[in-house]
Amino acid sequence: MTNVATYLDYNAGAPARPAVVDAVVAALAIGGNPSSVHRAGRLARRAIEDARETVAETVGAEASEVIFTSGGTEANNLALLGAVRRGLAARLIVSAIEHDSIRAAAEGAGVPVALVPVDRDGVVDLDALDRLLADGQGPALVSVMLANNETGVIQPVAEVARIARGHGALVHSDAVQALGKGAVDFSALDVDMMTVSAHKIGGPAGVGALVKRAGIDLLPLSLGGGQDYGRRPGTENLAGIAGFAAAAKCLGGDADVTALRDRLEREVLAQVPGTRIFGAGAARVGNTACIGLSNVKAETQVMALDLAGVLVGAGSACSSGKVRPSPVLTAMGESEAVARSAIRVSLGWASVAGDVDRFLAAYIEFAGRALQARAAVVQKESNHG
Ligand code: PLP
Repeated sequence: MTNVATYLDYNAGAPARPAVVDAVVAALAIGGNPSSVHRAGRLARRAIEDARETVAETVGAEASEVIFTSGGTEANNLALLGAVRRGLAARLIVSAIEHDSIRAAAEGAGVPVALVPVDRDGVVDLDALDRLLADGQGPALVSVMLANNETGVIQPVAEVARIARGHGALVHSDAVQALGKGAVDFSALDVDMMTVSAHKIGGPAGVGALVKRAGIDLLPLSLGGGQDYGRRPGTENLAGIAGFAAAAKCLGGDADVTALRDRLEREVLAQVPGTRIFGAGAARVGNTACIGLSNVKAETQVMALDLAGVLVGAGSACSSGKVRPSPVLTAMGESEAVARSAIRVSLGWASVAGDVDRFLAAYIEFAGRALQARAAVVQKESNHG
């Protein structure tokens, strides 16, 4: 896709890296089942355990703490539902800006759920978290993401963990949008569980991991064999797991895209009246720009940019192609109209200055036309009025 268009939707899914493609092909060629005792099985098992070491090292964890899953969604579900069903949590406290896979899992867990509000920049309110923990009954599991998928705003997860521990609660963090964009260190964050996903870092879609402290015994989500040390039944996705590790190995060599993102935002604000950058007052990962253009629907912007060969995201693009007002922006206190007008531009490992130039040319041209059209409508209405 990157060779036919300017791809700036890395938070939805990063293009696969060449090293990942090679690793996936090599793993497919092994062909065995990692549970088989013959040599093909042993080769497959070795490849999985090597990958486990690599992913663990990348996120500051022990290999034994890494459970491979079918992606971030399953890892988030396993963290919440596995803890509740095992009786480790009688209530869930999640931030108001979590990904659907946390929100929906929490709502479906069958225990009381409390939402921690965020401020206008999208940073979780730690005093409110403290109060919610103090007020409720029974053991709690707190889940707060490390970086938000729409705004890139970084959450104070180490502080969240400290507060939660003070109340005897367990802590999970969804680090899917933080991995590869700054330090993600499981032991330094001092959380009990953490989620990562391969396709956000240039690995294959359909593979991820839940990183979990040894002492936490979750109930598996499905029933079956004893794979992954009894924590996740089902024959392992060897090719996906090998691709995930190959992507993780590349992270240290990626160029920092923060200066490109900052230039993009500066130019947008300087050249297009009525634009805003959401979350700009908070610490953010360096690849994400969440841009509002008043009175122009996100899907209109995305389609116009697509026609100009520039691919960006609208709202929570992870879902199903549906564009709804961003719940993240409404949680930040924005109106529904404003929350419908935001696009997300996200850069990554293959992004170059020319991508930003092409985005700016297309965006400024489109926004100019949209603003002119709107001015004409307003003029016509005032002539009639
Ligand atoms: N968590 C966050 C913050 C995400 O942005 C996403 C996907 O966009 C997920 C979880 C789900 O990950 P996956 O697509 O691997 O299921």
